[in-house]
Amino acid sequence: MPEAPSSSPQPGLPADPASLDLQFAFGEAALQAENLHELPPEVPLLEARAGDAPIARFLHHVLLEAVRLGASDLHFEPYEHHYRVRLRIDGELRHALSPPVLIKDKLASRIKVMSRLDIAEKRLPQDGRLKLRIDALQTVELRVSTLPTLHGEKIVIRILDGASTRRGIAALGYEPADQARLLDAIAHPHGMILVTGPTGSGKTVSLYACLELLNRPGVNICTVENPSEIGVPGINQVSVNDKAGLDFATVLKAFLRQDPDVIMLGEIRDPETADIAIKAAQTGHLVLSTLHTHDAPAAVTRLLNMGIAAHNIAASIVLVSAQRLARRLCPDCRQPADVPHQALLDAGFSAAELEEDWQVYRPLGCAACTLGYKGRIGFHQVMPLSEATQRIVLCGGSALDIAEQAAREGIPTLRAAGLRKVRQGLTSLEEVLALTRA
Ligand SMILES: [Zn+2]
Repeated sequence: MPEAPSSSPQPGLPADPASLDLQFAFGEAALQAENLHELPPEVPLLEARAGDAPIARFLHHVLLEAVRLGASDLHFEPYEHHYRVRLRIDGELRHALSPPVLIKDKLASRIKVMSRLDIAEKRLPQDGRLKLRIDALQTVELRVSTLPTLHGEKIVIRILDGASTRRGIAALGYEPADQARLLDAIAHPHGMILVTGPTGSGKTVSLYACLELLNRPGVNICTVENPSEIGVPGINQVSVNDKAGLDFATVLKAFLRQDPDVIMLGEIRDPETADIAIKAAQTGHLVLSTLHTHDAPAAVTRLLNMGIAAHNIAASIVLVSAQRLARRLCPDCRQPADVPHQALLDAGFSAAELEEDWQVYRPLGCAACTLGYKGRIGFHQVMPLSEATQRIVLCGGSALDIAEQAAREGIPTLRAAGLRKVRQGLTSLEEVLALTRA
């Protein structure tokens, strides 16, 4: 009879002070399960090896450099007479290098072999994953996507940087009052919380910051995304798989049979998922999701347009938070900007604000940053659905009516939220104006 294994918590899982020690009942099974760790990892690992072909060394070097620069994506792009590698850093796509066009097929094959894709298939898009060895201790996960273009396969590699995407709520740029509203909302046992904004505005990172606060042994959290990018121990994460027929609605229905407490749905984009999500929020579950709307009030009208009844919206939405990610000014080289009084008024600053003592800064650029910016900071319009707003929704009010009520409750517009970051010297006026254009 083998000895029962110790009941120390699994690495990465949240600790449970009141855990029941059920290990004795599963002693033998647990020992057998330990042997499973001997199996090769599911995701292939890319690391530098002596004797690697030049193309492999080139790829490894470019990937390491992209990680070092904090890029989120690499683009390998073949054209008729050129080949181009671009990097997305702080949301901006930038040219990195132009290797000889002759390498395009070898490079595509190397990336496809590494991510276990079919190298013979060049006519259809493919998706894969791999891990990149940074040093003895560190690996970074990469998501690979191929696309047949006119002059060869374009390959985009997304760098899934778990550390920077799991920074905790305090690092995301919420003003203290907004963060308090958000924390109050996620303390609700049921209802729906929506984060809105365009693609790349950091919605998923905000939702995960909330999920990490809710991630305790006593809470069953399920997420469904397309695909799941931020791996978190203790959360049950599902990626949709259209090829296999696993869509958002199918997964959501399955979640409801899995005794959930909290459900995170990557995106509400069709009436069917909207309907299931709203029903889940009304039957004792906390549902977190995202929508593509310009601001928080518009989220309500978007759900109405998807066919959700006003009374269901009023009864289930707890809070809507609209957000944008602005590039953060480099503190080492930012310069005071001389902006005309009228331009500041036109931007949305009040005359009273302009009486106060503060300074607008503009980007310059130095060795420590990229074009005067370094990293990004979020700004948010955090709107709890008050009773007054619920009444407006029930009476068929428009997004404008809801926005006016939000203003009466002291909730800033998204533009005003961005201008607050300008006032704090954290970002530039141009950045906020560009991100909040209606
Ligand atoms: Zn700088």
